[in-house]
Amino acid sequence: MTKWVYGFGGGSAEGRSDMRELLGGKGANLAEMCNLGLPVPPGFTITTEVCTAFYDNDRAYPDGLNAEVETALAAVEKLVGRSFGDAKDPLLVSVRSGARASMPGMMDTVLNLGLNDETVEALASVSGDRRFAYDSYRRFIQMYGDVVLGVDHYHFEDILETVKEDKGVTLDTDMSADDWAEVVEAFKKKVQSELGQPFPQDPREQLWGAIGAVFGSWMNARANTYRRLHNIPASWGTAVNVQAMVFGNMGNDCATGVCFSRNPSTGEDRFYGEYLINAQGEDVVAGIRTPAPLTEIEKQESGSDLISMEAAMPRVFKELCDIREKLESHYRDMQDMEFTVESGKLYMLQTRAGKRTAKAALRIAVEMCRDGVISQKDAIMRVNPAQLDQLLHPTLDPEADRKVVGMGLPASPGAASGQIVFSAEVAEEWAGKGRKVILVRIETSPEDIAGMHAAQGILTSRGGMTSHAAVVARGMGTPCVCGAGAVKIDYANKTMMSGGVTLKEGDVITLDGATGEVMLGEVATLKPDLSGDFSQLMEWADVLRRLKIRTNAETPEEAETARGFGAEGIGLCRTEHMFFDPERIISMREMILAETEQGRRSALAKLLPYQRQDFIDLFRIMKGLPVTIRLLDPPLHEFLPHGDAEIAEVAKAAGVSEAIVKRRLLDLAEANPMLGHRGCRLGISYPEIYEMQARAIFEAAIEVTKDGGDPVIPEIMIPLIVGKKELEILKAAIIKVAAEVEDEKGAKLKYLVGTMIELPRAALRAGEIAEEAEFFSFGTNDLTQTTFGLSRDDAARFLDTYIAKDIFAGDPFVSLDQDGVGELVSLAAERGRATRSDIKLGICGEHGGDPASIAFCEAQGLDYVSCSPYRVPIARLAAAQAALGK
Ligand code: PEP
Ligand code: MG
Repeated sequence: MTKWVYGFGGGSAEGRSDMRELLGGKGANLAEMCNLGLPVPPGFTITTEVCTAFYDNDRAYPDGLNAEVETALAAVEKLVGRSFGDAKDPLLVSVRSGARASMPGMMDTVLNLGLNDETVEALASVSGDRRFAYDSYRRFIQMYGDVVLGVDHYHFEDILETVKEDKGVTLDTDMSADDWAEVVEAFKKKVQSELGQPFPQDPREQLWGAIGAVFGSWMNARANTYRRLHNIPASWGTAVNVQAMVFGNMGNDCATGVCFSRNPSTGEDRFYGEYLINAQGEDVVAGIRTPAPLTEIEKQESGSDLISMEAAMPRVFKELCDIREKLESHYRDMQDMEFTVESGKLYMLQTRAGKRTAKAALRIAVEMCRDGVISQKDAIMRVNPAQLDQLLHPTLDPEADRKVVGMGLPASPGAASGQIVFSAEVAEEWAGKGRKVILVRIETSPEDIAGMHAAQGILTSRGGMTSHAAVVARGMGTPCVCGAGAVKIDYANKTMMSGGVTLKEGDVITLDGATGEVMLGEVATLKPDLSGDFSQLMEWADVLRRLKIRTNAETPEEAETARGFGAEGIGLCRTEHMFFDPERIISMREMILAETEQGRRSALAKLLPYQRQDFIDLFRIMKGLPVTIRLLDPPLHEFLPHGDAEIAEVAKAAGVSEAIVKRRLLDLAEANPMLGHRGCRLGISYPEIYEMQARAIFEAAIEVTKDGGDPVIPEIMIPLIVGKKELEILKAAIIKVAAEVEDEKGAKLKYLVGTMIELPRAALRAGEIAEEAEFFSFGTNDLTQTTFGLSRDDAARFLDTYIAKDIFAGDPFVSLDQDGVGELVSLAAERGRATRSDIKLGICGEHGGDPASIAFCEAQGLDYVSCSPYRVPIARLAAAQAALGK
């Protein structure tokens, strides 16, 4: 027979901490604290299986539950020596929800359950404090009315305010017993008028009402949303904890509080917390009264003039300190605990692993490992890689005021403030004068690169997480909010409208690229701190991981940053980004405008020295580490000007008529450029482009190695192939260039030629492609786009709906769709290896920096992941966790 109810109290429990699936986090830990002999008010947990059965059976409870609850309740009565509903000395209980994972979206707590018109008088006489009894009763009606009966909170608040006004009282503490009794009467009347029936007086009816409300709240809208956002399956269910009440509000030898075994924001190994004398649990959280510091040190540091618990209740404080140590060493993790002191006696109401900042997470993990409490593996598993982002960029000062006027996608983390400008040119110009600017664009294009570089932050109203703005900003480590659809940008008038505010060029905004928030004015930030704990944990992670971590970088700054963060090579150098420099773009455009191969070759000859220098710089920075260089990928029209003034300028510089420029623009226009004349298709149409790039790479390699420099083995990568044939043609051309350069320079070259796998057909034909390719790099941005038939730049507009309707678990451009796109990756890896057993495999789409996708890459046995420089540490940690089988 299934056991539905687990009792605890009196120094033992039927449950244990490893039963959180069945008992929920709260229930399992209450049981464990009892088993550890800690003072816990007795109670019982109704299991998560009851919740599941409840929903499976049309909201009916399983047979036998009633009897088990009665038995458990009787055991509690026996332990405390009081009876539930007793007219002389009643047992009162709290009812709390408790899922496996903490879920703020659900019903939380009903306290003082069991009070009615009769038992309130009994409580008054037993406690000798009528005021306390009626205060407890009104709190109960208010909580129960709100969370169980659905009578809105504000009704009760209004009544309370009116009574206080009538009495000329401002503080709750100044209310007398009769005042509270009056409030109780008014509350009951309100319930009657709102519901057409009286407030339930029968304690058992109250109890089952509260239990039903907890189970009902599992499926409320807030809980559903929370579960969706945190990937918690509905099938887990919640448990219900019923526990004897203890009172922190029965006088000045009573208190209630919340404490952490270490500081949750800094991680410092020092007891930390807040408490209130003569108060009930919710008062600390509700912010009605300012809680006092737990310890004397905290009091001094915060400058609080309230009396610390250490000073006010030294004996109980000492006991709490002992419990802190006991729980932390038992759970081997920082604990977040709730306690109540009733008439000088301490009770523990909850313990759980405490939420913490990234900084605290690192410090706690490293210090616990050094102290021999946890292993290096545990330490690595304790830190959430995604959370490291908080440490790598300046972040908003949590203390600072902020006025949020808009919201977009959190495309590139970090916080930035500056004056808004609406064009890349103005961004550059203003930044040149030392101003801080935020570039605001509907979307960005490669033409904007210099302005993007000059900007402190980037805001776009269109485009998703792999849009140009997002990818480039992440590479540069520039905070970026993109796809903020509600922000209306008017280029002509140089204004943006957001959140009902119209801002003009020069106005100051702040972006938080980690949350997607757009804020008015300048908000203070905190500097990143990559001190000892950070590098220590990274060192441990490096020993444990198998996957290599490379970076996507094309500028020397990006390459340096990535090296600093521990990148082990470049996995993707997008060469097109190198052509937007003002000096180069002229030759690039000349090349595009040329009508003949000869014309193109002469323009390309001007670009060659620049490209060579780019590669020399990258090779030098990477000191012999692998560098994968992708040949030109985007459609040529991206390099051409669009406005009339710019067209005129380009025509003049190239010595052709404006008409020719315009005609060429028309020639190059494509209805769907993402699927158009780009990638290796350019190399097939204009072999001279890739020949120039290959030559630049080879000449640079020879240059860097010639004076005893580190050996360079460039990896030349061809984008967007659909099959073997393209690669065969292009590889032959590259080999020919290599031979020519070797002849000219009298040197030997070592290099690899490989390809991106970023189209479904290429994945399917990977077996024969591997006959030519010495490596594959999965371009999962394009592979996601083409597998889903979902535009990288436009999908953001409706992805939210897809996610809300549970069609997609999340944005497939952020975390790899392992079922679909992943199957193609897996299949291509398998077919590639079947042809060439030592083929090098990596991933260079944005997924290379996403921990879940990295775990997938580990499972596929890829050799490396490549991600933007600022994600390198995240990838190092995620790769170690993946290797440990997370
Ligand atoms: C990709 O498609 O995944 C890729 C890395 O290339 P890009 O983002 O430059 O198209
Ligand atoms: Mg691509």
